[in-house]
Amino acid sequence: MTAPTDIDRYVEAHRQEHLDRLFAYLRIPGISAHGAGMAESAEHALGLLRGAGLNARLCPTVGAPFVYGEALVDPARPTLLIYGHYDVQPADPLDLWHSPPFEPTIRNGRIYARGVADNRGQHLAHILGLEAWRDCRGTLPLNVKVLLEGEEEVGSPRMPGFVADSRDLLRADVCVISDGGVDDSGRSVIRFGVRGVLSFELRARGAARDLHSGHWGEIAPNPIWTLVRLLATMKNGAGVVTIDGFGETVAPLSAEERAALAAMEGAQDEALRSIGLSEMQQHPARTLGERRAGWPSFTISGLHGGYGGPGSKTVLPCEAFAKCDIRLVPDQRADDVLAMVRRHVARHAPGVEVISHGAMEPSKTPLDSPYAAPVRRAIARVDGTEPMLLPAMGGSLPEYPFTHTLGIPCLGVPFANADEANHAPNENMEVKRFHRGIRIAAALLEEIAASSPSS
Ligand SMILES: [Zn+2]
Repeated sequence: MTAPTDIDRYVEAHRQEHLDRLFAYLRIPGISAHGAGMAESAEHALGLLRGAGLNARLCPTVGAPFVYGEALVDPARPTLLIYGHYDVQPADPLDLWHSPPFEPTIRNGRIYARGVADNRGQHLAHILGLEAWRDCRGTLPLNVKVLLEGEEEVGSPRMPGFVADSRDLLRADVCVISDGGVDDSGRSVIRFGVRGVLSFELRARGAARDLHSGHWGEIAPNPIWTLVRLLATMKNGAGVVTIDGFGETVAPLSAEERAALAAMEGAQDEALRSIGLSEMQQHPARTLGERRAGWPSFTISGLHGGYGGPGSKTVLPCEAFAKCDIRLVPDQRADDVLAMVRRHVARHAPGVEVISHGAMEPSKTPLDSPYAAPVRRAIARVDGTEPMLLPAMGGSLPEYPFTHTLGIPCLGVPFANADEANHAPNENMEVKRFHRGIRIAAALLEEIAASSPSS
């Protein structure tokens, strides 16, 4: 590892102050699902941006406001856009928390609090990285814009429209998002893309009421059988999605992407064991890494109908429904896939209703983006080891508005530990990763400014 810089020493000297400021932020709930503490959270985030010297304001929407700040130092220099979200998930179930979710507590080197990793500790690290730069070196080395969303945890319904309407405001050369965790092995990653997601429900109806299975079995249609047969036409035993037309929309992985995904396999075997599995569903051609992030998945999240209580009940149910989600990969579009689902259902099980429950598009930045090298250098400088390159993450984040609407590369640089327990009780972030995040955030400013591939 190289000798500590002025910024490393600054972050070390301000450890307690930075933690205090994180804790003050974490004490404000900010739950977008039902609105508790949202206005206060937005005001607090605004104060943080102003405190870092940004020209900041709230951008109201019909939902939660966006919080936006900028420091424009020189139009000839590159512009870095940093995205984060100030809303958090509900804390339920409260009885499973070992300390109150909105009273941050340090145990065993970890900060426990709702929203510490997802996402306040991560975007605050960027804000403190800007402050560290300003206090140590003065003017920022590049232009910086920070966009904090207040509805990420409810699916970012206003992100696409806001970004489309704010193209000039948000114009930038590269976007960096710090959300999610590093690799299971503890090594940092750079994430180049995310899968999209399409959520929908299939609803089958039979008779006007539940029926006696002896009197009406094989006479009245059974909606559960209707769904079971329909679902069996949508994915085969090898895990390949067989919805009519679906395969043609999937962009093949490049050799480079396949190699990067293969490089992550060792750690992922460990992950498989950590969820109590000794073997995975087999697929003739696709590796574990490719299946976790490079190909679509089709999940039945719930299949409901009829009787599920103790003992037996000989009933022929009158309705059944399946909750499903499809994770999307480039070049799929949620609307196209939903239309495919509707056509497929109409052909194989006419009468079954398809109800959309929202979608997020996939996003991809090429591995050879000119901004990959400076981001890699920044992380390597702080970590002392090279980050792993992850062509895509299995989950979904609102990166699409940046890559498609703004047309800029979007790189994920997660600061949290892999076992952050986001969305779950006892969400946590390792104290050292919070401080390291601040140092990486400051190093990013320097490396991106120095590489300046756009100039
Ligand atoms: Zn989240």
